[in-house]
Amino acid sequence: MSAELKDKAARLFAERFGTDPEGVVFAPGRVNLIGEHVDYNEGLVLPMPVREGTAIAWARSEGTEFEVVAADFGEEDSFAVPPGKPDEVDWRSYVRGMVAESGLAAGGMRMLVTGDLPRGSGLSSSASLCVAVGCALAEASGREASPVELAQAAQRTEHQWAEVACGIMDQMAVAAGEPGHAMLLDCRDLGFSLHRLPEDWAVVVTESGVTRGLIDGEYNARRAQCEAAARALGVASLRDASMADVEASGLDDLTRRRALHVVDEIARTRAAADALGRSDLAAFGAILRKGHASLRDLFEVSVPAVDAVVEELQSVIGAQGGARMTGGGFGGAVVAVLAAERLGELERQTGRSFLRVH
Ligand code: ADP
Ligand code: MG
Repeated sequence: MSAELKDKAARLFAERFGTDPEGVVFAPGRVNLIGEHVDYNEGLVLPMPVREGTAIAWARSEGTEFEVVAADFGEEDSFAVPPGKPDEVDWRSYVRGMVAESGLAAGGMRMLVTGDLPRGSGLSSSASLCVAVGCALAEASGREASPVELAQAAQRTEHQWAEVACGIMDQMAVAAGEPGHAMLLDCRDLGFSLHRLPEDWAVVVTESGVTRGLIDGEYNARRAQCEAAARALGVASLRDASMADVEASGLDDLTRRRALHVVDEIARTRAAADALGRSDLAAFGAILRKGHASLRDLFEVSVPAVDAVVEELQSVIGAQGGARMTGGGFGGAVVAVLAAERLGELERQTGRSFLRVH
């Protein structure tokens, strides 16, 4: 929760550096409701911020030196601007990357980072960390940075400092999302609209318990397959392809299935935003179920343990809502949307713990 987390960051900063911070920033994580593996195909996605995130207490210091504490890891980093890359990708890559990519640094700083998101679960702790660093840099330097600029710097950080060829969804949801609202984001032009969730809907996330392995390689492979499909179809991105184009294309079976997922998932995202606009929980839930099946069977990024959690939740939720894997896949979190009054029953029947997003 952001207020307590910010207090914790300020307290730990004072303990570590012996002075109070000048400011404390917070950036949330995000959960994607629908539109998975679509952002890097210039499609439509429907994420929303979660309550958990990353807090950074900061203060300016003399010179150009940065001193950064990752309180959750008990680790520290120090570097001069412009920073070099750490020997291997770790939390330092995100902090140094944002300092380099945002162009917002003006003199040295001390920062203390702490978060309450599960890491590596598909709730985008890395985007949350990057955007929080960007917010701290902007506050300290007094320089303006729009949410889109912060999101783009965070995406460059993932690409060039963390070696993840991600789209822009996570960063935009974290930088420009609003609590309680789903963001219908067009990943082609970054236009978005915010849609309030009905008060009587609940959005919850539960962890599958499988931490993702090899995700970056698999993720980058899926991205390459989508790009190959677009090239073969003669379009700039799969955003411009239709189901009929894909079916008639003569693509090899694997590439065809990847493309079918993306094209249909973009249509599902539009349909989900429409269902949300009508407060039609049954229609919204049906779209989540179809989305999961497509990720499992066509895009092949789910794993049996995640499928089992989805089925377990789905068996309680029934037709009035739905559950699906969320995030890049290969483990991680499951999101469910259901009537708020049925949340207690879901908890009792599954014995699971849930993060309440809405
Ligand atoms: P996800 O973004 O899905 O949570 P990633 O593997 O992309 O998973 O990002 C997780 C990484 O982000 C962590 O391994 C760490 O390097 C960095 N990170 C996230 N939160 C924190 C934090 N509170 N403190 C330090 N590093 C963090
Ligand atoms: Mg990440």
